Amino acid sequence: MPTRAHWFGLAAALMLAGVPCRAAETPIIAIVGATVIHPDRDLPSAVAPDSTVIIAGRRIESIGPAGSTAVPAGATRIDGKGKWVVPGLIDSHVHFFQSGNLYTRPDVADFNAWMPYAKEVERNKRRLAATFKVWLASGVTSVVDIGGPFWNFEMRDAALKSPAAPRVAVAGPLLSMVDRVKLDLGDPPIIKIASADEARALVRRELERRPDYIKVWFIHRQGDDLAAQEAIVKAAGDAAHAAGVRLAVHATELVVAKASLRAGADFLVHSVDDAAVDEEFLALAKKNRALYCPTLFVTMGYRYALSNTWQPTEAERRLADPQILAAMSDLQRIPREMLPERVVKAMSQPTPPKPSAIALQNLRKAWDAGIPVVMGTDAGNIGTLHGPSVFREMEIMTQAGLSPLQVLRSATSNGSKAMGMERDIGTLAPGKLADLVILDTDPLADVTNLSKIHRVIKDGKLLAPAARASAGN
Ligand SMILES: [Zn+2]
Repeated sequence: MPTRAHWFGLAAALMLAGVPCRAAETPIIAIVGATVIHPDRDLPSAVAPDSTVIIAGRRIESIGPAGSTAVPAGATRIDGKGKWVVPGLIDSHVHFFQSGNLYTRPDVADFNAWMPYAKEVERNKRRLAATFKVWLASGVTSVVDIGGPFWNFEMRDAALKSPAAPRVAVAGPLLSMVDRVKLDLGDPPIIKIASADEARALVRRELERRPDYIKVWFIHRQGDDLAAQEAIVKAAGDAAHAAGVRLAVHATELVVAKASLRAGADFLVHSVDDAAVDEEFLALAKKNRALYCPTLFVTMGYRYALSNTWQPTEAERRLADPQILAAMSDLQRIPREMLPERVVKAMSQPTPPKPSAIALQNLRKAWDAGIPVVMGTDAGNIGTLHGPSVFREMEIMTQAGLSPLQVLRSATSNGSKAMGMERDIGTLAPGKLADLVILDTDPLADVTNLSKIHRVIKDGKLLAPAARASAGN
């Protein structure tokens, strides 16, 4: 009788001989002869030409030179010649309760007279499977939904169950300094908190659903007591941390961002855009090992959409949800008397929006200081479409002076930290989950080449190239 030790010895010997142990029925995919990009490395080692990637089941089994990496018998073979392979993209800031169309934020632009918000919310729930597909078709295999109604937890369950959905990390309702009554139809995405006790109580309710983050909407207006607000954020953060959950904070002014970091923020979900970040900010961010997500396009998206100057990019034409694309030109058919005042004004004098110069500078400073920058779109907000808006965001990030490789790092290996999955995703290496994108053009020549997608593989499954959503409901 062979002993257990004997079998272990045999397995070890096979491993040493380069013979992987796997069940015979495990599906194998081989991408042969591609240029593999390792965004976690610097040039030149970030680029591995003429490489073969072997995927067994859900995971990457091996990566090596095409000449010396054997393709197992029975593997599904993908010709990688003239193709590039990158890790699946990660958008670290999205909201599934919002669609990106005009009707999705009545607290900002109230179109209820034309389209009741309840219908929009219902649409977004019904359309969830299609929205998931739009992300995958855009090469995005993981997203962080950084705040929404309690329904968000059902959304995460639905994503987990579906092979045609990205991986999802999630926060529940935002603990907010301000009310947003127009968004409250019984399961509000934003809940006003007036004291530390109220903060702890809401965190407790959310913790029952095992969130990946507790999110605070730290709105500081003139006359507000910053120290009192900071104490509320700290109460939320302490309660989250006690349960091993990270604290994400919306804080767009320098003093508010610093207060958030003092209160324990692990993730700043937007740029600081009112002043240049200083040494104190950078030191606080480093101490917390905080992630920094610039979200440079989202305010531009609002301005384009609400002035009727929003135009789809080439990638959006190909990859966005056709239903949402069609709705983006609705301002042309809504009777004028049903338009919100601010929209009438914006339409009469449209000014082309530009990225915030301060936000661009701060992105560069944060990057140079070694703060982990994560790419995020804030998709779902008006004008920022689920899926292909990542290509707008990444293009703007290069305007801060980041190289395509650095931008790709923010959208992959850095993004895996926002997902809390740095051991499993974000890089291409044996043992990692097989989330990757095969591209027709070189993403390091131009970051928008990341939209030239040949195939997407998520969790070891090759997705049909036409897996994008159909126009129906
Ligand atoms: Zn957001």
